[in-house]
Amino acid sequence: MIVVKFGGTSVGDAQRVANAIDIVAERRDRNPIVVVSALAGVTNDLVAASEAARGCDIDRVNQIVAAVRQRHEDVAMRLVQQKFDFFESFIKQLDKQIEQIHTILRGIALLGEITPRARDKVMAIGEKLSSVLFAYSMMMRALPGEHIDSEEVVITDAKFGEASPLMEETREAARRVLTPLIERNLIPVMGGFIGRTRDGATTTLGRGGSDYSAAIIGAAAGAEEIQIWTDVDGMMTCDPRLIPSARVIERISYVEAAELAWFGAKVLHPRTIAPAVAQKIAVRVLNTHNVSSPGTLITEAGDETEAAGPRAVAVKRGITVVHMTSNKMLGAHGFLARLFAIFEELELSVDLITTSEVSVSVTIDEERPELIERLKPVADVQVLGNQCIVAVVGRNLMRDSIVGARIFEAMRGIPMSMFSLGTSGLNLSIVVDESEADRAVRAVHAALFEAPVGVAS
Ligand code: ADP
Ligand code: ASP
Ligand code: MG
Repeated sequence: MIVVKFGGTSVGDAQRVANAIDIVAERRDRNPIVVVSALAGVTNDLVAASEAARGCDIDRVNQIVAAVRQRHEDVAMRLVQQKFDFFESFIKQLDKQIEQIHTILRGIALLGEITPRARDKVMAIGEKLSSVLFAYSMMMRALPGEHIDSEEVVITDAKFGEASPLMEETREAARRVLTPLIERNLIPVMGGFIGRTRDGATTTLGRGGSDYSAAIIGAAAGAEEIQIWTDVDGMMTCDPRLIPSARVIERISYVEAAELAWFGAKVLHPRTIAPAVAQKIAVRVLNTHNVSSPGTLITEAGDETEAAGPRAVAVKRGITVVHMTSNKMLGAHGFLARLFAIFEELELSVDLITTSEVSVSVTIDEERPELIERLKPVADVQVLGNQCIVAVVGRNLMRDSIVGARIFEAMRGIPMSMFSLGTSGLNLSIVVDESEADRAVRAVHAALFEAPVGVAS
């Protein structure tokens, strides 16, 4: 059994949904479970509708929701229309969901505030609609698609907006709900991105979280492969929107892929790899617009022919650097523990750390004014906003000093506020001002992946 996940652009319109269904049909003998994102842009529309509701801008709310409804009706019109009873029944479900959005949005407008719980309920509608639409469209093509509500299977904690799965419960639900369908040769179709708490509240797994859903469902159902179908040929040496000449990486290890995703390669949601690793399930990243391209295969071993070297460059924006200095650090112990206890208390996750005898610098990916107040008694604090991390990911990056030399050479003239290379040799990160991000990425990518062999050696 395999999981086949389609991202938003892969189900953006009727033609794309039809192509995605062909991809499922071609993999029928591998017992697919289909996971779909909301149609491209719909989640953003729902966020905008919630904001408009909070501002009591009812005209705007109605306008956005009507457009979302119309988009789904248009796709259904093209794909399911030939069978009138299918179309009618889809429109009934569509209107039921749309009515539900209106009810929640009216509540938000009345209160003038959005709770994380209400926001999740609204955002989840995108995947609910796309998955129902996909299942109907499959039936139209005589494929036995069976819509399954993701909330019946993906059970999560109650961290609205960024929920984590409770794997035991999810595995049990997958066994109960999905396995019998697969045994009957049916094809379950589920929305990504959504789950529910033990007591039944809808949750979401974080923006871009349908990849994560695919991995959670794959791990829970014991899939042999998780296929992430998207709009590029695979994981590449850089975001092709930034560097059109970026190359596809044919094979990469879990740790490298996770590191790349964490440091900004949007092609995979950062948490996608974890459920796959636990059960050593292969993950493939494939292109819905170029079905014959082999894509990227992500496994534990990765590319065994590449013992060392850089694989890709990624950029993570919206970073804040916190420099902490204190003379008390000189030869003292316990200082770092005190500092990091404060980060722990505020539940702030730190990406990079550099230290000297009297100072520590860290990066965090959210601004928290109370952090400075809390740190002040312990250290002198300087905060640098609007930073970004340019990360080179690969294997044994320290083995060959040429990699570091090339990167420093490429960065000539671009000021850096931090530089970090861990002993794992997996990640070499540079922090630069946001305004320099693109220039830094282009320079580093050119030096590592475009230079003729031997130029820098
Ligand atoms: P989907 O809707 O299929 O989930 P996303 O937009 O979330 O698609 O992710 C695909 C996008 O990720 C690509 O269009 C590409 O611009 C971007 N991307 C960023 N870094 C990389 C990378 N290293 N390799 C491939 N794509 C990348
Ligand atoms: N639709 C959700 C989002 O836009 C989840 C996803 O696309 O993966 O964030
Ligand atoms: Mg995505």
